[in-house]
Amino acid sequence: MNIIMLGAPGAGKGTISGKLNEKYGLPHISTGDIFRNNISKGTELGKLAKSYIDSGALVPDEVVINMMIDKLSSDECKNGYILDGFPRTIAQAEGLDEALLKSNSKIDFAIVVDADDDKIVERLSGRRVCSKCGETYHIVSLKPQKEGVCDKCGAELIQRKDDTEAVIKDRLNTYHEQTYPLIDYYTKKGIVHTVNGFDDLNVTLKNIEEFIK
Ligand code: AMP
Repeated sequence: MNIIMLGAPGAGKGTISGKLNEKYGLPHISTGDIFRNNISKGTELGKLAKSYIDSGALVPDEVVINMMIDKLSSDECKNGYILDGFPRTIAQAEGLDEALLKSNSKIDFAIVVDADDDKIVERLSGRRVCSKCGETYHIVSLKPQKEGVCDKCGAELIQRKDDTEAVIKDRLNTYHEQTYPLIDYYTKKGIVHTVNGFDDLNVTLKNIEEFIK
């Protein structure tokens, strides 16, 4: 089963993907995480991606498409996957479709995680992430037991550089201009199901499970 998660940054795609990964055992592939990993390791890909990410812009399509085609043909993805953050443009969706066609595969479900921009700004600007394991927290609604320290692994919590208010607004603009049209693209394929990114997580998961059944 191949699933893609669509929705604005901060809508909740990552959290829901993590839960779907636990439920279905499919790998959760987050392009943002792949880039951040490469940045922290100082790879060529990381060096290339950094300036785009820091400014809230998208990494160029050809870079992302090639990276993801490689990833999806790896052993890890042979039984399916949950794509979180890819595709993000029509060109990426078309590139993905082309590659899937060649391998006689397809996207089965596109889950749209809907959320209002103002709520997203509040959520993302208060978000803190573990510098080691990536676990996420919020300064008001999801505090760690000890301030600034990850409950899971004890590492330091940090604010992502692109989670500052000015960059969040740029990321939302990028989303509305370049990614939002994908909802129509996948609606025409008849595989879209929409959930609310601010609903109770367990209710949302039940809702998605019912749809997938
Ligand atoms: P995310 O963690 O999904 O919010 O992604 C963080 C940043 O990584 C984005 O703001 C983009 O700069 C970059 N990025 C992630 N996925 C893509 C993609 N599919 N295409 C282009 N850039 C991406």
